[in-house]
Amino acid sequence: MHGRVLIVEDEVDLAATLEYSLTREGYQVTVAHSGQAALAAALADPGPDVVVLDLMLPDIPGTEVCRRLREHERTRELPIVMCTAKDTEIDRVVGFEVGADDYVVKPFSVRELALRVRAMLRRSHRTEAESEILRFGRLKVDREAHRVWIDDAEVTLTALEFRLLYTFLSRKGRVQSREALLSDVWGIDAEVTTRTVDTHVKRLREKLGEVGDYIETLRGVGYRFRDQPDAA
Ligand code: CA
Repeated sequence: MHGRVLIVEDEVDLAATLEYSLTREGYQVTVAHSGQAALAAALADPGPDVVVLDLMLPDIPGTEVCRRLREHERTRELPIVMCTAKDTEIDRVVGFEVGADDYVVKPFSVRELALRVRAMLRRSHRTEAESEILRFGRLKVDREAHRVWIDDAEVTLTALEFRLLYTFLSRKGRVQSREALLSDVWGIDAEVTTRTVDTHVKRLREKLGEVGDYIETLRGVGYRFRDQPDAA
């Protein structure tokens, strides 16, 4: 499994060992040696998919780093594995209180940490995939899997039809000119004319049956996907 891992560890040798091992597992690894560096790296774009966070850091405690990451909208859901020095109840309780998702106790094996990291990534990937489902009236669209259902019957769309539908759906209630659709769905350099847009919208509507009525034609202007599934 791939993903970006941020290792926050002030012991340089340990950080290097973890970086080496997780890189070998196929992850993209970033290392921060302080709490401040960790916050900067976690809020960077693209940020990490999972953070391995040491509790004892030279500047800000790991618990505080964790707390701040939970306050930020972008890192609120970011999986955090805490590394505690001792398996004391208090460390664990504090860790979970400030929002850590899991923990490992030092000294831990690299293998153990890699397993935790993988479990975190698997969990967050699943949540992401679930949130890719869009529902609108009788229509259900899985953005990730590129699948479309009407009620519970799957409709087979070409990749282009899917893109067209998804573009409509993500801009419900807004007028889409043929030119805008051409550049957004086909790409600005495509050797097609605005008539192509009409042809594909027609085909998409046919495939969607009654749900095709969600796409309204605005004569001379373009199209608009309804902002409510039931027409007034
Ligand atoms: Ca430390």
